[in-house]
Amino acid sequence: MHHVVIAGGGYGGVAALKKLGDVANIKVTLIDQHPYHYLQTEGYALISGEIPFERTIVSLPALCAYYNNTHFEHKRIIYFNRREKKVICEESELGYDTLIVAMGSRTKLFKSDKDIRSYSAGAKSLRGALYLYSLFHEELYRRLESDKDINKSFNIIVGGAGLSGVEIAASMQQFFNRFYRQNALVCSNINIYLIASGETVLKGMHKSVIRYATKRLKKLRVNVYTNTRVNTIDKHTAFLSNDEQISFDFMIFAGGTMIPACLETLDLSSNAKGQLEVDGYLRSVGDEAIYVIGDVASLSNKKGKPLPPTAQTAIESGSAAAQNIIYKQQGKKQHRKNVKIKGIAIALGSGSAVIDMGWIRIYGYLAYVIKNVIEKMYRLPLMWRVYRGYENIDSCKIK
Ligand SMILES: Cc1cc2nc3c(=O)[nH]c(=O)nc-3n(C[C@H](O)[C@H](O)[C@H](O)COP(=O)(O)OP(=O)(O)OC[C@H]3O[C@@H](n4cnc5c(N)ncnc54)[C@H](O)[C@@H]3O)c2cc1C
Repeated sequence: MHHVVIAGGGYGGVAALKKLGDVANIKVTLIDQHPYHYLQTEGYALISGEIPFERTIVSLPALCAYYNNTHFEHKRIIYFNRREKKVICEESELGYDTLIVAMGSRTKLFKSDKDIRSYSAGAKSLRGALYLYSLFHEELYRRLESDKDINKSFNIIVGGAGLSGVEIAASMQQFFNRFYRQNALVCSNINIYLIASGETVLKGMHKSVIRYATKRLKKLRVNVYTNTRVNTIDKHTAFLSNDEQISFDFMIFAGGTMIPACLETLDLSSNAKGQLEVDGYLRSVGDEAIYVIGDVASLSNKKGKPLPPTAQTAIESGSAAAQNIIYKQQGKKQHRKNVKIKGIAIALGSGSAVIDMGWIRIYGYLAYVIKNVIEKMYRLPLMWRVYRGYENIDSCKIK
């Protein structure tokens, strides 16, 4: 039996699992530090209370239990031993024949004081999204209860105006605007600052997408700073590159990302961002027993242009890598994969979005509906497997 270990159960790891599940002569172990697959692409909606907590997670133990050849390990990977083909976790180790590295990226935080976690969060974690959701509700509640607090300002900085920063700023502002309409006095001094290092938000995207998003952010009353960086933060003050200082209550890091530190122990070639180099078959350059997918892979299109890290590229690369492992096991020729981005969908607060598919762009409510349908089409088939997986877990217990 050929043992495939999938390190990371995000978009890429789950796509690989779906291909490898129930394939003859292959045994799969999925390892993740969390027992859930966090649907990051819906994080903005969780923060703004548009969707409930349980809609943003998919149970990994139950998903794995759906397949007969798959096992889930809820463990944190500490390092890899390539020579012995082992993945080393906090209290155990696991051998593999083929390894799929799908560990995603994490938000780069400032090295600041020790309390930084109590007043900041990265855009990528479930902890961050839940924390923000409860923080805003607490703040609004405090204002409802106390006349004194109503006039105090409450400032939130979103550092980074790429896809995730724009989605978070727009949906949070709309959440406050909605609350304001119903409880006008309470929300009067809540401000969101979106800091973009480039000349515009959504740097690199099509100019009409940028124009539409900029207009929408203005309409929502998000304070957008362009050509500006947050140089550093000290307690609750942000020092900007334009020499301004903003006092803030909470900061969301939505700018740079980095790959998990334990990937360095693989000692494989990587690009300037630390992403591991892959060949056309999604194998790491330097070790054919290791496939690399998603945010941690240095992926480019067929013209050699680097691809931005997205859920879409993670799913495509995960599926293609798993298919190549199956071909190899069956003695067939592996296929080269041209990973592509079919389109980008950006949520701009409830009821508005923009979708750019290159040949066509859709704006406003229709785009918002389509984005929601895309998210449902991803989640619902997974949930069906999860329910069936739970039935398998229950029947094991009864036996
Ligand atoms: C707010 C936000 C909105 C976004 N919106 C979109 C969008 O609309 N469309 C789009 O295509 N993309 C979007 N993205 C980007 C997209 O979410 C990522 O590109 C995608 O999650 C990458 O998938 P992945 O499988 O590589 O990594 P992830 O989904 O991050 O999964 C990595 C997994 O590895 C696990 N892991 C990491 N380290 C360890 C360890 N040491 N031990 C064990 N397990 C570990 C993690 O727990 C995680 O489950 C958005 C991102 C954010 C933050």
